[in-house]
Amino acid sequence: MAKTSIVSGFYKLPLKERLAIIKDFAGLTDEEIRLLENTGSLPFDVADHMVENVIGVFPEPLGVGVNFLINGKDYLIPMATEEPSVIAAAGYAAKMVRDGGGFHTSSTAPVMIGQIQIVGIKDAKAAKKQVLDAKAVIIKKANDQDQVLNSFGGGAKDMDAKILDTSLGQMLIVELYVDCRDAMGANAVNTMAEAVAPQLEQLTGGHVYLRIISNLATKRLAKAWCTVPKESLGGEAVVDGIAYASAFAEADPYRAATHNKGALNGIIAVVLATGNDHRAIEAGAHAYAALKGRYTSISKWTKNKNGDLDGVIELPMAVGLIGGAVKTHPIARIAMKILNVKSANEFGEVLAAVGLAQNLAALRALSSEGIQRGHMSLHARNIAVTAGAKDAMIDLVAAQMVKERKVRVDRAKEILDELCKKQ
Ligand code: NAD
Repeated sequence: MAKTSIVSGFYKLPLKERLAIIKDFAGLTDEEIRLLENTGSLPFDVADHMVENVIGVFPEPLGVGVNFLINGKDYLIPMATEEPSVIAAAGYAAKMVRDGGGFHTSSTAPVMIGQIQIVGIKDAKAAKKQVLDAKAVIIKKANDQDQVLNSFGGGAKDMDAKILDTSLGQMLIVELYVDCRDAMGANAVNTMAEAVAPQLEQLTGGHVYLRIISNLATKRLAKAWCTVPKESLGGEAVVDGIAYASAFAEADPYRAATHNKGALNGIIAVVLATGNDHRAIEAGAHAYAALKGRYTSISKWTKNKNGDLDGVIELPMAVGLIGGAVKTHPIARIAMKILNVKSANEFGEVLAAVGLAQNLAALRALSSEGIQRGHMSLHARNIAVTAGAKDAMIDLVAAQMVKERKVRVDRAKEILDELCKKQ
């Protein structure tokens, strides 16, 4: 029987029961469950090999977004984030989207762009022609660097060159287009860019400085779309509110930055949980949002002819199933197993769907009751802890602040004092 990601009241279950559900859904082993339960699961020697100057590890909460149905397949979404309400909101939005048939997705081939910067060229036009005439030789040199990638059907597939007018004069920028298959690809592409540089210097008589991947991965895009029934959202007025919010973000970069941040709240949580490079995704998303010369939103919501809500998101998605920290971090490996994606493309599409869900949840709240009620009631426990509450006192102090609609540290301290006196 196909497994479902619908788990109502997941947040109310004790940890053991939550883990039993995940174990069953993802086929986790007892050892993997033990690692999840142990909040210090990144051993020093592993961490010490990952980065430099290690003095400890920095744990973040890991949760799962429930209810996701993407292209007819159920997913539980592992999410690592320090921000309350993100994971709950993702599951809430996924449930509404599910009412309309779930998310649909598509993506381009996993092609990344490697840039080689050539300066000091006398005739840029002639140099460009020389480089393009030698395309086959340069691509072969690039592909000599990574037999493993070639064996998976990846590798440098094409190349182009552009003349750039800059404050320091003209430069020739050569771009390698590399199919990275299931890798994010930065190391693979950078190696190729460095390998072809001497040949490019010879051909052009110029000097190569930079040889590096571009995070504006316009050839590696993921797209997700959905239709949400108006009844699931709470009526046509909410649909109108979300459409107006979307138009606002499309027209105003100040709003677009926050609109996009809302979508990235979900995407980055998954990217982080899986040991992928979240800076690459952030950089790509924002640069893509500004590609047409003015920063705008990466998603769009409109009312369709039935009065329901249509949503779509598209952004660069440079993520991998191998490489980087994906296979070294023990919890990232488990997160990947929970996610159960078979290719980097499927992974990117799931991330786009998560971004769309997160964006929807934020816009629904913003265009109706505002985000503060839900957000602050989940944040209240953090405030209670900041005020010094421990154990059972945390929930008591938080509940009282939410009841009073005064979620503040000073009020938390007063409530805590009052409760302590009563004991
Ligand atoms: P990597 O070099 O660790 O792994 C990629 C390699 O794995 C491929 O080159 C290939 O040889 C091999 N491979 C095995 N199975 C494969 C498969 N199924 N599909 C594709 N390749 C397969 O990592 P990477 O993905 O090249 O680079 C990612 C790392 O680079 C991240 O840690 C990132 O943080 C870092 N980085 C990023 C930037 C940037 O974004 N600007 C710059 C430098 C480094």
